[in-house]
Amino acid sequence: MDSRFSASIIFEMAKSTKSKKRAVPLDALEAQLQDQLAFLERSIAAFDEGYDDEFKRLAVTLRVLLHDTSRSHSLLKQINMKDGDFFAYSSPISGTNLLPDWPLAIVRIGSDGIKLLPTLDKAVTSRRSLSFDDWWSEKVYRDPAAEISLDRKTIVLAVANKDGGAHVDPEIDEGYAHLVNSGAGLVAITAEGEVLLDDLEKVSLRHIAFEALMSIKPAAAKRLGNRGCECGSGLKHRYCCGKKRMPLPTFP
Ligand SMILES: [Zn+2]
Repeated sequence: MDSRFSASIIFEMAKSTKSKKRAVPLDALEAQLQDQLAFLERSIAAFDEGYDDEFKRLAVTLRVLLHDTSRSHSLLKQINMKDGDFFAYSSPISGTNLLPDWPLAIVRIGSDGIKLLPTLDKAVTSRRSLSFDDWWSEKVYRDPAAEISLDRKTIVLAVANKDGGAHVDPEIDEGYAHLVNSGAGLVAITAEGEVLLDDLEKVSLRHIAFEALMSIKPAAAKRLGNRGCECGSGLKHRYCCGKKRMPLPTFP
């Protein structure tokens, strides 16, 4: 095909899709919620299996679910689910600590060496309930020597928008770059020599994804279960195809 011709077709298609906008029905948005939560769980599972680059896709999914700007609304906002509690499982940062503070990660010393792991529900402090805005903008990394502190939002957006999540940017947030390069600021002395504990940005994202999932999933499950069933029976999904069925007895 003539390349000028194909380019003009693409241009026409772009124009026609732009002019036809309509509101997405609520059940379609709820189906999107189901998809995005499934993405989150699948990326978490892949991360935990050792594919730690999956932290980039975790960031993109979190952005779709949570991030509002003046021009675009997050999925959670569109279906009015942002007013619920958001759970912080990490300890709050001390503003007076002289050493770097990174409560989203813990150090594990195992037979395979020493490494950083996401804190998840292993923090010494108990879970805190926050509003979404307080959770999203809470500082979760602080390096007093470099005068840098980062909140959950900055870390998620730096990865999603700049560091290869949905986009690779030639410039990167200075604070996020510090998190990647200096990280926990910990060097372990092992039999093999000095080992820098790195990947703090990855395990931090994994922890944020855990918190988001624990915050959103119960309400989402309730809401999705109350939908009319997609099979068209007229029953609520949770009393129809979403019903947990007893396993059938097996006969030899
Ligand atoms: Zn059904």
